[in-house]
Amino acid sequence: MNAAAQIIKTHVGIVGGGPAGLMLSHLLSKEGVGNIVIEKRDHETIRNTHRAGILEAGSVRMLTDTGVDGRVLTEGHRHDGIDLRFNGVSHRLDFQDLVGESVWLYPQNEVFVDLAAARKRDGGDVRFSVTDSEVLDLETGVPKIRFTDADGQYFEVHADIVVGADGSQGICKKAIPAEKRSDNFIAYPFAWFGILTEAPPSAPELIYANSEHGFALISQRSAHVQRMYFQCDPNEDAGGWTDEQIWDELQKRVDGPDGFTLKRGPIFEKMVLPFRSYVCEPLRHGNLFLAGDAGHTVPPTGAKGLNLALADVKVLFEAIDSFYSTGSPELLDGYSDTALERVWKAQNFSYWMTSMLHTREDQSSFERKRILGELAGVAASRYGQQYLAEAYTGWPHR
Ligand SMILES: Cc1cc2nc3c(=O)[nH]c(=O)nc-3n(C[C@H](O)[C@H](O)[C@H](O)COP(=O)(O)OP(=O)(O)OC[C@H]3O[C@@H](n4cnc5c(N)ncnc54)[C@H](O)[C@@H]3O)c2cc1C
Repeated sequence: MNAAAQIIKTHVGIVGGGPAGLMLSHLLSKEGVGNIVIEKRDHETIRNTHRAGILEAGSVRMLTDTGVDGRVLTEGHRHDGIDLRFNGVSHRLDFQDLVGESVWLYPQNEVFVDLAAARKRDGGDVRFSVTDSEVLDLETGVPKIRFTDADGQYFEVHADIVVGADGSQGICKKAIPAEKRSDNFIAYPFAWFGILTEAPPSAPELIYANSEHGFALISQRSAHVQRMYFQCDPNEDAGGWTDEQIWDELQKRVDGPDGFTLKRGPIFEKMVLPFRSYVCEPLRHGNLFLAGDAGHTVPPTGAKGLNLALADVKVLFEAIDSFYSTGSPELLDGYSDTALERVWKAQNFSYWMTSMLHTREDQSSFERKRILGELAGVAASRYGQQYLAEAYTGWPHR
C-alpha cells in the first residue's frame, strides 16, 4: 500500500458507477447501509455515452418507487408493443393485451443522470474519474479497494462487502482466480451497426425486422433523435459508410408491399456493437459480489442488459440489507443462485431473439425458410406472442 493512502471504512465498497453501482448505492443509503462508489470515467463522459434504451416495467418501478426520480414517466415514452416484421409485413405484438405490461423508451444516459443526481441530492459518496483501482483481500472479512481519486490522492477502502459493478471490461471479475470461476461464453458471427440520427420517428414503436439482407431494428430516442441498427460484420468499419449508404441499407431491410419508408436525417453517431453472451459462475467469490455486466453480458436483441443489471441489484440489495438488519448471511449466500436464475432465462431469450431475427452469411435455403416458419409460428400464435411479450417486458422481480 502506498504510504500516503487514506483509509475509508464503510460497509459496502462498490466498483463502477454505471446503473448497477449507482442504483445499489442509492438503495443501500436509503436503509442506512454505508457505502462508497468509485467510477473511473467522469460524469460528462458517461452522460454522453449512448447505450441501452428500453426499460422493463420492473426497472421503471425501481426508479420511481425508490425515489430516484419520476422523470422516466414524464420524459420517457411508454410502449405497449413492438412490431415483428418479416417478408416485408409487420405483425404487432400488443404487450398490454398479451401480458398486461409495457416497456418504457428511456435512454440509459438519462437513467445515469437521474441516479447520479439522486446520489448527489442524498449526500452519497461517489468518486468519479478515479485511476489505478484494484480490489484485494476478497476472501477475508475486510475486503479492500484501492484507488487514486481525481485530485491524485490515494485511498484504501476497508469494507465488509465489495461489489463488482464495473461492467464487462472491469477488474473485479478478473480478480476471481480462474479455477474458482466458470466462464460461459459465446461470440456471434455478426454485430450491430448503430446510428443516431436527427430525424422524426419512422414508427411509434420499435420494429424488429428480419429480411434476406439481414436484421434491422428501427428504434426511437425522442421526437427529434432516432436510434437504428442493422446487422453487420463484426469487423465492419463504421467510418467507411456514408449517410446515404446507411439509409439505403436500412431501407432495404424494411422494404415491403406496404411501402413503409424510413424518415431520413443527418446521422451524427455511428458505431459497431459486437455480440457476445457471457455468464460468470458463481457471481460471488469470498466477500466480492458481481452485479450487472460485470457478471454477465447479453446480445442487445432482447433489450435485457440494463434491465438484468437492475434486477441483480434488487436481489443483492435485499441480501445485503437482510445481512445488516438480521445478521443472517442466508440471502447473501443465495445471491448468486437467485440472480443466475433470471440471468439464464434472459440469456436464453436474448439468444433466441438473436437467432430468430438475424441472417447468417452461410445460411442454407432450409435454414432461411425454417426461420421464416419460426417467425410465422410466433406471430400467428397467442402463446408464442405471450412468451415473447412476457420475456421482453420482464419477468416479475422476486
Ligand atoms: C455500445 C453499447 C450499446 C448497448 N445497447 C444496449 C441496448 O440497446 N439494450 C440493452 O439492454 N443493453 C445494451 N447495452 C448493454 C447495457 O448498456 C449494459 O447492460 C448496462 O450498461 C449494464 O450496466 P452496468 O452498471 O452493469 O455496467 P456499465 O454500465 O458498463 O457500468 C460499469 C461502470 O464501471 C466503470 N468501471 C469499469 N472499470 C472500472 C474500474 N476499474 N474502476 C472504477 N470504475 C470502473 C465503467 O466506467 C462503467 O461506468 C449496450 C452496451 C454497449 C456497450
